[in-house]
Amino acid sequence: MKDFYRVIGNPVGHSKSPGIHAAFAAANGIDFDYATCLSPLDGFAATVAQLAAAGCKGANVTVPFKIEAFNLCSRLTPRAQAAGAVNTLSFDGIDVAGDNTDGAGLVADIVHNAGVAIAGARVLLVGAGGAARGVILPLLDQRPASLTLVNRTAATAQAVAAQFDQPIAVCTFDALAGPFDIVVNATSASLAGEVPPLPPSVFGPATLALDMMYGAEPTAFMRFAASHGASVRDGLGMLVEQAAEAFLLWRGVRPDTEPVLRELRPAGPR
Ligand code: NDP
Repeated sequence: MKDFYRVIGNPVGHSKSPGIHAAFAAANGIDFDYATCLSPLDGFAATVAQLAAAGCKGANVTVPFKIEAFNLCSRLTPRAQAAGAVNTLSFDGIDVAGDNTDGAGLVADIVHNAGVAIAGARVLLVGAGGAARGVILPLLDQRPASLTLVNRTAATAQAVAAQFDQPIAVCTFDALAGPFDIVVNATSASLAGEVPPLPPSVFGPATLALDMMYGAEPTAFMRFAASHGASVRDGLGMLVEQAAEAFLLWRGVRPDTEPVLRELRPAGPR
């Protein structure tokens, strides 16, 4: 039987992960099976147990199960612990190990694909939900000059920042003073076509503004940032890079992401 992997979500039919992992496997001469797995909203633990019993080697986890995945793992990596959420499961019999590759994916996309150093940079992280929490430790590990956190609900940002040993400046939107070298939009505002209430002064001509969301068109955040002089980027590179990190975990080889990104976006990075 071929090794098999799944991405578990609800909904999950739209996921790009099967195509990305198939491309990684083909490029590395690996023959494995990777497909979507739609879990009932109230049946995530049972879905995971069934996959493990059937001999599944690993799974990615997407909306809305990342926190449930965190809670059911018997082992967690430090970055999954810091994130409070799991996006990658590795099965060893009934033992389920959890990791979170989202932050490493974001860092790889900024540093390697966009060519922007996080070390020494002033970084603004917008949002304090699961995605934001997942990227804080990997961002801090790059030794930025500063990391500022801003969120619509300020108390959530305070609570998130308090979970980390290293200093994180928590700010309100009104009090933000820029420009920043890197601005990451980790809110779900883009899903509603909205832009967080950022003052234009957070952007400058040397700013990289990255929206974790991706789609056929630039998001409202990307258009707003570009109109104030920033270079912009969406979350597709982060998606491909987090998948490469999961592939590394499962197969021991980090695939080349450039051909996959080129195929997903023939017009080049945005
Ligand atoms: P959560 O629901 O956990 O968090 C949502 C966050 O967005 C909260 O901080 C919330 O603030 C804020 N928010 C929502 N609407 C607005 C608004 N209109 N204005 C300002 N702030 C707003 O979502 P996630 O953290 O899981 O996901 C966030 C985004 O990241 C999604 O778009 C998701 O698709 C994307 N993502 C992309 C990945 C990739 O690989 N490219 C990986 C993971 C996520 P409050 O606390 O006040 O409610």
